[in-house]
Amino acid sequence: MRIILLGPPGAGKGTQAQRLANTLNVVHYATGNLLRTAIANKTPVGLSAQPYMDGGNLVPDQVVIDLLMESIVDFSGFVLDGFPRTVPQGEALSIALPKPVQKVILLDTPEEVIVERLSQRRTCSGCSAPYNLTTKPPKIQHTCDICGCSLVLRNDDKPETIKVRQQRYREDTEPLLNYYQRIISKIDGSKSMLEVEQAIMKAL
Ligand code: AMP
Repeated sequence: MRIILLGPPGAGKGTQAQRLANTLNVVHYATGNLLRTAIANKTPVGLSAQPYMDGGNLVPDQVVIDLLMESIVDFSGFVLDGFPRTVPQGEALSIALPKPVQKVILLDTPEEVIVERLSQRRTCSGCSAPYNLTTKPPKIQHTCDICGCSLVLRNDDKPETIKVRQQRYREDTEPLLNYYQRIISKIDGSKSMLEVEQAIMKAL
């Protein structure tokens, strides 16, 4: 299946996309993770993207489109998380895909839930796997269950940057809800991880 997860920062896209990709046996592509890897490796893309990301702003469309297209190995099945984030990105994706996206899941999550979640979020410095200190803690403190690297508070999960990211979501990403109106399902993202997962499976 070809699926997109949409939602504001902190809605749970990363967690749900990872679980969904495992269940459906397809690859999970997260442009935020691809960009963080590029930054860690100090590639030209990473160096150019870092100031945008640190400020909570969007990296220019063409940079992200090229990065994702280079990464996708199988266009027949995938879960996209964090892409598209603008209508031009959605249009570029439609043109690039041999077969269209089948379902867009919107994780609709109120701002107060998001602020609480992001303050509790920790991210693996190696593989970008997401954790929550309260609802999804690692088995060993400060350590990723998957790759063993240390967990960090993301640079852009600080309160002042979160505000900018929420504004970017409202202005740049929300128009995609209309763009995908015929294939979108809205899910209440404030529920528990398992309840949200069940609701997504039902929508699919
Ligand atoms: P995320 O991990 O999805 O929250 O993304 C972290 C940051 O990476 C975002 O705040 C943007 O600066 C950048 N980013 C990720 N995906 C995109 C995208 N599709 N378009 C533009 N910027 C992106």
